Amino acid sequence: MSSVTSEPARILIVDDTQKNIQLLGTLLKKENYLINVAYSGEQAIEVAQTVAPDLVLLDVMMPGIDGYQTCELLKQNPATTEIPVIFLTAKTEVKDIIQGFAVGAVDYVTKPFNAVVLLSRVRTHLNLRRALVTLEQKNQQLERMVVTDGLTGLFNHKFVFEMLAREVSEAKRYKSPLSIVMFDVDFFKKVNDNYGHQIGDEVLVKVSATIKSGVRQADIAGRYGGEEFLVILPASDLKSARQAAEKIRVSIEAIVWPHQGLKTTISGGVVQYSNETELELIDSADKLLYLAKQTGRNKICTPESTTV
Ligand code: GH3
Ligand code: MG
Ligand code: MG
Repeated sequence: MSSVTSEPARILIVDDTQKNIQLLGTLLKKENYLINVAYSGEQAIEVAQTVAPDLVLLDVMMPGIDGYQTCELLKQNPATTEIPVIFLTAKTEVKDIIQGFAVGAVDYVTKPFNAVVLLSRVRTHLNLRRALVTLEQKNQQLERMVVTDGLTGLFNHKFVFEMLAREVSEAKRYKSPLSIVMFDVDFFKKVNDNYGHQIGDEVLVKVSATIKSGVRQADIAGRYGGEEFLVILPASDLKSARQAAEKIRVSIEAIVWPHQGLKTTISGGVVQYSNETELELIDSADKLLYLAKQTGRNKICTPESTTV
């Protein structure tokens, strides 16, 4: 949508009379607006979808579907619902104006119109729309930030824990398998000590990206703590979760770092959900992670590992 950039706004003029289109086109082009035209409601709906105008100036009386129906159809379609519509019509009765607003228009201008007034209204609605789009984008950005870890781009601790609670209740409800992996980078303190914190951060970013690309779309990967990562694998049993964790372990071991002598490995604990609480589940994964650390690191442990 052009309204969020500095390029001129695009206006779709809908009118069945060529003379009206010409008059409006000339007026709007002088203000540097980009213009598209449609000669019927049907055509307007098509053009609106392809060019995504920032505003529609809509006539009411046209052959085929009239302006009111056109507006309703534009509002029903998610692709065009946000585009402000201003009626521009010779119908001046109060009931016509009321109907115009009822079908979703933001404004109603009667013909013959005063050019300055029309341009002011167009500008007002374009500005409002632009402000709304900016606000929505900022909101989305904020929503993303709230759930994202700033360094790694993975989900943050709070969100991944919330997701675990959600997945646990789903697994309980549908009796579907659910597994989790708790990963921890091996000897990470040494990376910081020997290469500096900045390279330490770089390692965390790359390890996170490797984890993320190693899991399926439906899996949820989060940074649980400093160099600890929690991966939730919905619909996965222990065996497939262990395989996923093992694949990630191998790809992290295989990373070639651009820093002299640097090598990184990761250890993991894998458990399958079996009716415990989220905290108990995490605790089990943590214990297996600890076991992996105790028995050599660069390995994945499962509840079966304890009996070996
Ligand atoms: P182990 O193999 O037993 O896990 O040893 P380790 O050295 O990885 O574990 P330890 O818990 O002793 O050290 C973790 C280090 O991770 C300590 C902490 O300073 C570092 N760390 C935590 N968060 C960050 C971060 O955001 N950036 C960097 N560079 N380091 C971090
Ligand atoms: Mg560690
Ligand atoms: Mg740790």
